[in-house]
Amino acid sequence: MSYPGRQAPAAPDLHSLDTALTACRACPRLVAWRQEAARVKRPAFRDWEYWARPVPGYGPVDARMLLAGNRTGRMFTGDRSGDALVAALHDVGLASQPTSTHRDDGLELHGVRFTSPVHCAPPAHKPTPAERETCRPWLVRELELLRPTVRTVVALGAFGWQAVLPVLAAGGRQVPRPRPAFAHGTRVELPPAEPDGAPLALYGCYHVTPRNTFTGRLSPAMLRDLLRTAAREAGLPAR
Ligand code: SF4
Repeated sequence: MSYPGRQAPAAPDLHSLDTALTACRACPRLVAWRQEAARVKRPAFRDWEYWARPVPGYGPVDARMLLAGNRTGRMFTGDRSGDALVAALHDVGLASQPTSTHRDDGLELHGVRFTSPVHCAPPAHKPTPAERETCRPWLVRELELLRPTVRTVVALGAFGWQAVLPVLAAGGRQVPRPRPAFAHGTRVELPPAEPDGAPLALYGCYHVTPRNTFTGRLSPAMLRDLLRTAAREAGLPAR
């Protein structure tokens, strides 16, 4: 069994999960890539040492809303995707500041956690299906540990959507068949995984990449609206 397949289900809490994850070397191609990225990016990024490791989720352990997308040194930190996302979260009252520049910048998320279906940055932002599968146990366990509080998941982009659906199914949720297609604003309600559990709403959101935000395909207003709707459904006081 793979390292994630052994370690993730055994993690008793999110802190233990994050600690085990940062030691993961299960994908040889991504380990080589992240070490090279760390070496090259060292002069430019204060978080350079984190490029050499998988990056765990970020946000409170009792988050009510989970945002699943890609990664950088800290999830959604120090790049333009993070800029757009954190600015929108701040606008609706879910982040303590409008920018996310490095891991000691004081950013606090209110009721929201960032995570990724693949915890190591892949070349050309494209993990292979095998890497996605190898990494899946981390997110399955993260969702299990968040189950008491999490009520909405926002999947960023078609990749995030396609990666999250099997994670939800592996966590015991009944995912409709055929699988719902990704579109911005799509909402799918998944029934509780256990008799006394709560339903979970999955939202699709265009990814916050510069290609989408700079071209207006995903405007700041569209992003704010979607985050506000998903947050309110999760019981968060978004404005
Ligand atoms: Fe481990 Fe996931 Fe990184 Fe692969 S992508 S090495 S499974 S953390």
